Amino acid sequence: MIGFCGNDNQGLNGIEAKYDDVLKGKNGTIEKNVDASGSTLKDSEEKYNEPIDGNDLVLTIDSTIQAIAEKYLEEACIDNKCTDGGNVIIMNPKTGDILSMVTYPSYDLNKPFEINSEELKSGWDNVSQEEKNKLLNEMWRNKAISDTYEPGSTFKLVTASASLEEKITDTDNKGEFNCSGGIEIAGVRIKCWRYYRPHGSESLREALMNSCNPVFIGLGQKIGVKKYYSYLNKFGLLRKTGIDLPGEANSIFLKEEKVGPVELATISFGQRFEVTPIQMITMVSTIANKGVYVKPRLVKAIIDSKTKEKKNLEVEKGERVISEDTAEKVLSMMNSVVSEGTGKNAKVEGYEIGGKTGTSEDGVNTGKYVTSFIGTANTSDPEVTMLITLYNPTGEGGHQGGDYIFYATQI
Ligand SMILES: [Zn+2]
Repeated sequence: MIGFCGNDNQGLNGIEAKYDDVLKGKNGTIEKNVDASGSTLKDSEEKYNEPIDGNDLVLTIDSTIQAIAEKYLEEACIDNKCTDGGNVIIMNPKTGDILSMVTYPSYDLNKPFEINSEELKSGWDNVSQEEKNKLLNEMWRNKAISDTYEPGSTFKLVTASASLEEKITDTDNKGEFNCSGGIEIAGVRIKCWRYYRPHGSESLREALMNSCNPVFIGLGQKIGVKKYYSYLNKFGLLRKTGIDLPGEANSIFLKEEKVGPVELATISFGQRFEVTPIQMITMVSTIANKGVYVKPRLVKAIIDSKTKEKKNLEVEKGERVISEDTAEKVLSMMNSVVSEGTGKNAKVEGYEIGGKTGTSEDGVNTGKYVTSFIGTANTSDPEVTMLITLYNPTGEGGHQGGDYIFYATQI
C-alpha cells in the first residue's frame, strides 16, 4: 500500500507513486552566468535557491489495526495453506477512511527489489531479467485493488438490498420462499449449495442466513436485468472506486445487453463475474453507511513542510444508493447471519456483528477456490467494515467461507 521509491527517490509504487508530487519537494539550485565553455563569467553574481522539503501525508491507516490485521492474515494464510495468499481491508463506512489494507505475502519496503521467497532467492542469479521483472511485479501487486475475484455468496447482499428497495420482498415474511434444492431458469437447473437437503420454507432473513441460492436467483429474476444493473452501477461496482492508489483494476461483468435469464441468475448469487476487494468493501460500506455511497481513501491530510500547517482533505459526499430503511434491514439480516446463521463463527460476546460468508471457484474449472468473509460492527450504527479474502486455501479446513471467520474475529 505504501509502495517504494527508485534510486532518484522517485515514487515507483503505492502511495509513494500516487503522491510523488506532494512528497518529493524540490532540489536546491545555484544560478550563475557562464560562458560557452562553462566557466563562470567575471563579476557575475551567484544566486542560491534553497531546496524545499517535500510535504508530509497523514494516512487514514490505523497502525494498531494494521499490525493486528497483518499478524492474523499471515496466520490465516499459513494455517490454511493458501497457495495464492490473501488480503484484508478494513474501512470506516462513514468517511471511507481505509483503516487497514494488507496483502499477504508482503515484502520488505526497504528492499523492494529483493524477492520475498527463500526458494526463489536461492536461484535468483540464474533467473532471466524478464522473469525477474515478472516475479517482482507479482510480489508488488496490491491484491486489494489490483486483482479481481468472483465474490460468491457475499454478493447476495446486493440482491437483498435491491429487492428490499424495490419492495419485492421483506425480511420476515414467514414461508415466502421455498427451496427445493434447485431452481429451473430458462430450461437450466441451478442447484442450491445444499441441494442434498433442501432448505424448504424460508423468509428472506432465513434465506440469507442459510445462504440459499434459489431464493436469490428468484429475486434477481423479479428485479430484472435493467434494474439489477442500475443497482450495480449505483453501488459503484461497474467502475473503479478511484481510491488514491495506482494500479486499480475494474470489475468484469457481462455487458448489460448480453445478460439473459441464466446469466442474471448466476449474478444474483455472486457467480460468473469478477470484482476487486476494494469494490466489495465499498459496496458493504455503503450499506453500513445507511445507504449512502462512500468513496474509499488512504490520505486524509497534507502537512506543509515549511509552515507545518495541516490541510485536511474533505470527505467526498456520495449519492444515496438505497434508503436508510432498506440499509437497516440488510444490516439486521447480516446480524442474524452471524448470531445464528452460516457466519456464527464470527460471533463475539458483547458486540453486534453482522456478516456474510462467500466461497467461489477461482476461474472456470481450475479447482482453486477463493473464500471470503465480509463483516461489520456494530450493526445498529456501524463504525467499521471488513473484508478478508483467502486465495486457494488447501488446508484441512476446506474452502468454505464460514470456517475462516475465526481469523476475522481475531482482527
Ligand atoms: Zn437452499
